[in-house]
Amino acid sequence: MVAQAMKQERTAAPGVMMIEDEDLLMAVLNSAPVIRGKPTDQLDGSTGNEILQRFGGEGTEAELLHLRRTRDALQGMIREESDAVEQLTAAIDKAALVPEVTGNGLQWQLDAPADERLSARTVLAWSRVAEQFPGRLRACANTECNLFLIDHSRPGTAKWCSMATCGNRMKARAHARRT
Ligand SMILES: [Zn+2]
Repeated sequence: MVAQAMKQERTAAPGVMMIEDEDLLMAVLNSAPVIRGKPTDQLDGSTGNEILQRFGGEGTEAELLHLRRTRDALQGMIREESDAVEQLTAAIDKAALVPEVTGNGLQWQLDAPADERLSARTVLAWSRVAEQFPGRLRACANTECNLFLIDHSRPGTAKWCSMATCGNRMKARAHARRT
C-alpha cells in the first residue's frame, strides 16, 4: 500500500499549466532530431513550412532561416555553450515589447519584423519556461539524441525526451553493462 502511494506521488504534478507558446518552443527545439544515427533538420523544406503554418508564421524562406538560427542559439543556451548568449542576443535584437494600455492594465505587444516574429515568440516562450520552471528545460540525457524536454514531474527527475525511446534504450544499456 505504501509503495502504491509513493508511486502515485511520483507521477506528474497536479495542475501543470501550459506556458503560452510552449508547444511552439518545443516544436522548434525538437526540430533537429537524430534519426537512425543521422542528424536531420525539420526546419528545412516542406516540414519547415508545416511548422510555420501550424504556428501562424509568414511562410517565407527568410523566416525559416531565422528560426533555425534561433533554434541553434536556444539549444546552445540550454546546453550552456560559451557563445550562446551572443547568438541569442543577435537572433532577437530587432524585437521589442510595446505597452498597450487597457482598462485592466498594460498588455505587452510584440513588435518585430514579420520574418522574425515567430522566432521572437519562441524566445519569449523559452524565457517564460526558464522563469516559471527553473532548471526544468533540459536536453535528453541520451547524448546521441538531440531532443529536449520540459520536466513537469513533481520530483523533477525526468531525464529522457521520451521513456518509450531513449529511456528504455538507456536503461537496457545500463542493464547490459551491469550483467
Ligand atoms: Zn532522447
